[in-house]
Amino acid sequence: MPFELPKLPYDRAALEPHMSARTLEFHHGKHHSKYVDKLNELVAGTPFEKLELTDVVRKTAGDEKNGKIFNNAAQTWNHTLFWNCMTPGGGGKPDGKIAGMIDDAFGGYDRFREAFVKAATGRFGSGWTWLVADPKGKLGIVSTPNAGNPLTDGKTCLLTCDVWEHAYYLDYQNERVRFVQAFLDRLVNWEYVNRQWEEERKAA
Ligand code: FE
Repeated sequence: MPFELPKLPYDRAALEPHMSARTLEFHHGKHHSKYVDKLNELVAGTPFEKLELTDVVRKTAGDEKNGKIFNNAAQTWNHTLFWNCMTPGGGGKPDGKIAGMIDDAFGGYDRFREAFVKAATGRFGSGWTWLVADPKGKLGIVSTPNAGNPLTDGKTCLLTCDVWEHAYYLDYQNERVRFVQAFLDRLVNWEYVNRQWEEERKAA
């Protein structure tokens, strides 16, 4: 099988009480896993099975006949970033380069936090909220529906929050706002976000 479900970078219970082991059991063990299985099924015997996941996402974006491949490839990609964007004891204000970039782009961490929560709660239905960098390195917040991913618009994805109901329903029921606040205040792995930025910059 060309694509694999990555292991979580922490134990399932490590993010409690902000994200429960049960949520991760379903979200990683069932939802993410299913996207990977479905993707493998769909790409079997096509040129996509030889590509890197990122290239599958890029090449199928906006192409209706490969819509199912895009959805499952992007969902596979998005969830992997999401797991890496969290860590036990995370959240709160960032440090490193990203801290200054957030100040420049949003006028301070508090305004960034407010804008991120607004974008996440304003997304009707399922989707993702992102902190991205444009090709000039300017940060922005993007909200995408369903499996959408800003890399298909030439953005660098630095941080993402899954706002599909399956991400929070077991822990927060219908209160997406409390989930997004917990994500920002208690879970974000800013060290990873900083590392992502450095690596992407080197690669550019
Ligand atoms: Fe999800």
